[in-house]
Amino acid sequence: MTPAEIAARNVGPVACAGARSDRNTRISFEFFPPKSDEAEEALWQAIRKLEPMNPAFVSVTYGAGGSTRERTHRTVRRLIEETTVAPAAHLTCVAASREEVDKVIREYWETGVRHIVALRGDPPGDIGGVYEPLPNGYANATELTAAITRIAPFEVSVGCYPEKHPESPSIEHDIDVLKAKVDAGATRAISQMFFDTDAFLRYVDRVRAAGITIPIVPGIMPVTNFKSLTRMVQLCQANLPAWLVNLFEGLDADPETRRLVAASVVAEMCAGLEERGFSDFHFYTLNRADLALATCRVLGVRSAAREGIHG
Ligand code: FAD
Repeated sequence: MTPAEIAARNVGPVACAGARSDRNTRISFEFFPPKSDEAEEALWQAIRKLEPMNPAFVSVTYGAGGSTRERTHRTVRRLIEETTVAPAAHLTCVAASREEVDKVIREYWETGVRHIVALRGDPPGDIGGVYEPLPNGYANATELTAAITRIAPFEVSVGCYPEKHPESPSIEHDIDVLKAKVDAGATRAISQMFFDTDAFLRYVDRVRAAGITIPIVPGIMPVTNFKSLTRMVQLCQANLPAWLVNLFEGLDADPETRRLVAASVVAEMCAGLEERGFSDFHFYTLNRADLALATCRVLGVRSAAREGIHG
């Protein structure tokens, strides 16, 4: 049965996704640098599980205020030395002079990194504080992107905000900023997490209407810990739809059921986006493999080795 025939029977997007064979899905995974030996072990277990999915790249975040600088570097170096995946190193402008940032960029190139996710970063200290660039630092991601591409021919991804950046006066301003980042050399935008798919689709329409043609990759956050998600969502001012709140209501003490609910939410979201023509997906893994792996299945992304075994 074709996806169209399945859809005609009023079956949901996940079943349609399962029936699809004509796809060119590209996935990527985001990790954060571990703080302890135990966390490092968990991260590498997740990386080993996700590596056979053949991601286009895996990215490693840069902690607020550059606080994870050494740990980010170490994780990126290990990815290069011990895995087959292409790393993308996040880099921010926070609390560093232009010379210091340029040095990091050059070191990345020398280590073999070819892809940087260029971000302004958030102000160090209190949440919601005002961002003040150092007088001799890069002021924003546009300036950072220009510096990266000036230093070496890196691939540069940048952030974008389907529901508006909290500091931005309007979506139009955000789109102007994205345009400036593209003009400075960005070749991909990865979105902030969102749960309102319609808001994301409207945003992409506006980005295209503004003449921006680079891929806008949905940033997918599998919801596992609803309490901490609520905090994150408040920070980035994404909309938490009532249906999502209802689905997780009363499950605070039941992580197993939460994970099962989360799997169905993220599967439906990704299958729905795929139905609307999206083929690139960036997973905020929170250093766990299971939900990202399950969603890869829905999107038709499978381990070549495992498929071989089952012939
Ligand atoms: P910018 O694109 O620089 O925009 C921020 C503001 O700067 C704009 O609203 C605008 O007011 C101004 N601005 C930018 N360009 C111009 C210009 N050309 N002219 C005038 N004004 C301009 N944070 C971390 O600390 N570490 C991470 O690893 C990290 N990873 C992230 C990954 C993704 C996919 C996303 C979406 C965000 C990530 N963040 C990370 C958070 C990010 O640092 C914050 O959202 C930050 O507040 C804005 O960063 P930006 O790169 O989008 O900023």
